[in-house]
Amino acid sequence: MLNFYPGPSQVYPEVRDYLTMAYDEGMLSIPHRGERFVQMMRDLVGLMRNRLNIPQDYYIFFTSSATECWEILAQSLTPHKSLHLYNGAFGEKWYQYAKRLRPDCYGQAFGLEEVLDVPNIPVEEDTDLICVTQTETSNGTHVSMNTLLKLQNQFKDPLLAVDATSSMAGANLKFIRADIWFASVQKCFGLPAGMGVLVCSPRTIQRAKGLNDRRYYNSLVFLHEKMLNYQTAYTPNVLNLYLLKKVMEHRPLIKTIDQQLVQRAQDLYTFFEELTEMQLLVENPEVRSLTVVSVKGPDRWIAEAKRIAATQGITLGNGYGPWAKNTFRIANFPAIADSDYEVLRNFISNHYH
Ligand SMILES: *Cc1c(COP(=O)(O)O)cnc(C)c1O
Repeated sequence: MLNFYPGPSQVYPEVRDYLTMAYDEGMLSIPHRGERFVQMMRDLVGLMRNRLNIPQDYYIFFTSSATECWEILAQSLTPHKSLHLYNGAFGEKWYQYAKRLRPDCYGQAFGLEEVLDVPNIPVEEDTDLICVTQTETSNGTHVSMNTLLKLQNQFKDPLLAVDATSSMAGANLKFIRADIWFASVQKCFGLPAGMGVLVCSPRTIQRAKGLNDRRYYNSLVFLHEKMLNYQTAYTPNVLNLYLLKKVMEHRPLIKTIDQQLVQRAQDLYTFFEELTEMQLLVENPEVRSLTVVSVKGPDRWIAEAKRIAATQGITLGNGYGPWAKNTFRIANFPAIADSDYEVLRNFISNHYH
């Protein structure tokens, strides 16, 4: 079975062994206030910094999902309002959710082919956060590191918060270009769903301490206080933490992974550009995502491609939201082998040439 679904996505094949190791080592029932847990967490945080290039002074936390991170940011860092810049379903969902918690939140949609026009973004007074979806998984666009730099330079006071759910651990993110980054492990980390990663700048933690919101079990100040001792506020997903540590131990540095994905993305984009039966959903190469490729065609054709692929054991990702019927999505995630993409290309060439 080949699985190109962009989340939950194919897990690393090594996960099978890591699961057995977790059981055999007795990790599945260790107390989360005990020494073994603290040691594992300390190792994990160090490995994350090393492999993903997370700055020494940034803080790393673990949550139950990316969605939970949306909630934490609204509750712990948004006394007034956040601005949401979005061009697809995940960015919009984040906006809608934040607005339910903080009614003054406001949004600015931008076009699928558009590079964010930073100088002309209307930022209102008392904006606590500017929220950007780095890779919009629903349509396969991204916001570049260069655009983040422009945002950072133009708007000094609000914290810059980035949903990197389907790029963290795949793309070489420049963490210093934003204050807050978060992701879920079922995308580029190649792990089973059910855990989120939250990375915060020193300024973010200062801000959270100043606001000192302690009303929620997952208030950022609690996460921070516990993490000072490599612990968590609640009993965490120890199995997934263990799996994450194993994956981090055995994977190359992010720079190397990024280079491999860039090459593979280029190959995929070139391949689909040359086909006449279908087009790439995103025409502007500047905003095309590294990790999610969206392919567009007539509704009938897309449905048939997915059906025939399934009979050959190939799972293509369904389109999403407004593009549900006329696109399919292909994950370009590190856990998927190069040879799988060769099978995919052969399948498409044989059927549609
Ligand atoms: C998958 C995804 C989410 C949601 O992740 P959960 O783990 O379900 O909370 C949020 N944002 C983006 C961009 C995603 O791709």
